[in-house]
Amino acid sequence: MSQTRLRVRYAPSPTGYLHIGGLRTALYNELLARKHGGDFILRIEDTDQTRFVPGATENLCSSLKRCGVEANEGVWIDDQGNLIERGEYGPYTQSKRKEKHKAYAEQLVTMGKAYPCFCTSERLDKLREEQQLMKQPTMYDGHCRNVASDETQRRIMAGETYVIRLKLPKEGNVTIDDVIRGQVTFDWKLIDDQVIIKSDGFPTYHLASMCDDHDMQISHVIRGEEWLSSTPKHLFIFSSFGWEPPRFAHLPLLLNPDRSKLSKRQGDVAVEDFLEKGYLPEALINFVAMLGWNPTGDREIYAHDELRSLFALENVNKSGAILNLEKLDWINEQYLRALSENAYLELVRPLAKISVEDPAILDRALLLIRERLHRLNQVHECISPLFQEPNYNEINLTWKAQSPETAKEILNEVRNFLHAQSKSFWEWGNRTAIEQTIKTWIAEKKWQNGEVLWPVRVALSGQEKSPSPFELLETYGKEMSLKRLDAAIGSL
Ligand code: GLU
Repeated sequence: MSQTRLRVRYAPSPTGYLHIGGLRTALYNELLARKHGGDFILRIEDTDQTRFVPGATENLCSSLKRCGVEANEGVWIDDQGNLIERGEYGPYTQSKRKEKHKAYAEQLVTMGKAYPCFCTSERLDKLREEQQLMKQPTMYDGHCRNVASDETQRRIMAGETYVIRLKLPKEGNVTIDDVIRGQVTFDWKLIDDQVIIKSDGFPTYHLASMCDDHDMQISHVIRGEEWLSSTPKHLFIFSSFGWEPPRFAHLPLLLNPDRSKLSKRQGDVAVEDFLEKGYLPEALINFVAMLGWNPTGDREIYAHDELRSLFALENVNKSGAILNLEKLDWINEQYLRALSENAYLELVRPLAKISVEDPAILDRALLLIRERLHRLNQVHECISPLFQEPNYNEINLTWKAQSPETAKEILNEVRNFLHAQSKSFWEWGNRTAIEQTIKTWIAEKKWQNGEVLWPVRVALSGQEKSPSPFELLETYGKEMSLKRLDAAIGSL
């Protein structure tokens, strides 16, 4: 390879939002660049004007930024939300390179590697219909491949609309050497003479992307599997110019658990929606990295930095990767639990969205629900039942066949026992001792655990399903616990 520096790019089209598969492509590019001390470039491929969505580039950049997958060259969003470009190979927004693409296309025509095609869309539609009827592959029939150049000139001068197509070989094979898939061979006669300049003068992806890859000295093209079958055309462009091609690596498809192709519905696959649902960016990155690769095979949790130092493009799998959301939940839980208490509380406090008199009790409750949280958007629904005013007439305070009188008597004794406990009993972190003290006392009283712990738990929580009474006592502390017990006793 003529260039020695490793240079990779993520080259999304700004058609809306960042797809979870796009995040994986961006991440693998970033990991490879960081592993080898190379450059990671973000290039925006906006030549298809019909698909352009305003704000989409900002959206892509900010989703990548939130996930910590940042390019060191190319398009960039600053802290004020402005798009800027940085680097020596710009512009990095493809539409600004239109003139270069046009010149390259003309050069290909001059070299006999591409040709203007004047076929009307009516003719092409008819051709397609005929081919479909004959059960033939639908492709361009080469009608304009051999129009003499003076006639071509005449028709262009006369103002006929035309596109430019690649003049691909029509026989023999082409073999590509993919970093992930190894050697893949294609039959030239099944590959269409690709349009490289459209009638509006804009280049298509195939020309623009490959010329930009050359101009930006990209050493590795890492992209989705859907581009594998286009690679022969891309290599043809490189060889026509006598350029050294980059290495190609095609990432496996993403699949639903039933192995069907992943939906494109924004709510299911957009990175911003995953973040909105309360997945931590670090957890999402960990999850996405595992879609087609596992660094050591003996665990599932890897920090972003660890991924950077372990990445090996050649170890990415060929077969489709299943997007298993249960696994994402599990990974997210691991990240939530690994946060320091303070970091966790800072993250979840604003999400509780309830008002509680004593902020210390709210913090305790937030710590209590941590083990039950899969995602941050569950904070409110997990925390609010703990602070609802109990309505003891609607719930069953009695255990099995226990009479209300017995339940009342027991609750009274518990209340007095708890009232007599010292300050240290009520301290946060004392859950195990609370449990032991109460259980020893129950044994001394010759009661069964159930006949005491059920009414106590329901009295404290106001609900038939809740955390254990020991957790609740530890969370609520003396005052709130006794208040609830008194209310329950009063209702019996
Ligand atoms: N703009 C193309 C896309 O959106 C990029 C493909 C490539 O990486 O070559 O999929």
